[in-house]
Amino acid sequence: MPEAGRRARAQASGTAQAGARTARAARRRAGIRGGIAMLALTAIGSGCVQGGADGGADPAPGRRSGAAAPPAETPLSYADRLHAERTAKVAAARRWGLKKVPLTPPAPPASKPPISTREGFEVDGHEELGLPPVFTTVPTRQKVVFLTIDDGAEKDPDFLRMMSELKVPYTAFLSDYVINDDYAYFRKMRDRGVVLNNHTLHHPYLPGLSYRRQRHEICGMQQVIREQYGKRPTLFRPPFGNYNRDTLIAAKSCGVKYAPLWAEEVFVDHWEYREWDRDLHPGDIVLSHFRGRGDWKGTMPDMVRRFLNKVTDKGYAVARLEDYL
Ligand SMILES: [Zn+2]
Repeated sequence: MPEAGRRARAQASGTAQAGARTARAARRRAGIRGGIAMLALTAIGSGCVQGGADGGADPAPGRRSGAAAPPAETPLSYADRLHAERTAKVAAARRWGLKKVPLTPPAPPASKPPISTREGFEVDGHEELGLPPVFTTVPTRQKVVFLTIDDGAEKDPDFLRMMSELKVPYTAFLSDYVINDDYAYFRKMRDRGVVLNNHTLHHPYLPGLSYRRQRHEICGMQQVIREQYGKRPTLFRPPFGNYNRDTLIAAKSCGVKYAPLWAEEVFVDHWEYREWDRDLHPGDIVLSHFRGRGDWKGTMPDMVRRFLNKVTDKGYAVARLEDYL
C-alpha cells in the first residue's frame, strides 16, 4: 500500500501537487479523514489532468471545489497518511542506524497454517494426548520470520522505543526470577501490542525435575503473567529448549497451546543456525534474549540492528508469531 501511495505522488505534476496541497488544506479545514487507496489514486490522477500545464491562471482543482470538499477527494488524506508513515519509518531506520528500511509484513494469513511438532521433537503419545506442538518454523510460503526474545533480565527503555518507532513485532518469553524486580517494564511492552508468554518461574532444566515441580514452574508462571498482565499465555518455551513428556503434559494442563522453539539465534555480534545451510527460511522463528552490556558486547538496539540488517537484506519481513497461530 505505501508503494501505491508513493507511485501516485510521483505521477502527480507540479500543478497537480499545488492543487492537491490546496485540497488537503481545504479538507483539514473541513476536518475530513479516511478513505481507500484506490480512490486516492483516482483523485490524484484526475487532479493531474485537470490542473493542466498553466496552473498559474486558473484556480486549482482543489480550490474550485471550495472549502466543503466533495467526498471523492477525501481519500487523498489516506495516501497522505501512508506517505507520512513511510517517511516516519525511513527516518526511524536512519535514526537507529539500519542499513535498509525494514520490509512491511504481508497481511496475516486468513486461515492459520496447521502447526505440528517438528520431526524428531515428539514425545511419546504427543499427538494422541493432544500435547502442545513443538516447532522451530511456522509452515508458510511468505517471506517472513518471527522474532522471539527470552528471559527478561535487561530492561532497556531504548529497546522499547526502537521497536515502536520501527514498528517491528516480536514475542516475549518471560521468566519470573528476572522480571520480578520491574514488572512495569513489561507492562509497557504489553501496552505496545507485544504478547507476553511463559518461560517458567526460575528457568530450570525441566527434564531434571519431577512432574509436580515442572508443573509448579510452568503453571506458576501462567499465574504470574495473568496477575501482572491480565492474560494467561498460550505460548510456552522451555528454558534452553529442553523438555520431556511431563513438561508438555504439565504445560497443557494450565492452558498452553504451543511450545515454539527456534530455528536461529541472534546475538549482539553473531548469528547461530539450527540448519546446516546456515540461512533463514520462510516462517523461521528467531531467538534472542533481553541482555545488555553486562552479558554481551553491546545493547539490545545493537542486537536488533544485527537482526534487522540480515533479515531485510535477505528480503524477509518480520511478522507477528501470534498472527500465524
Ligand atoms: Zn531462557
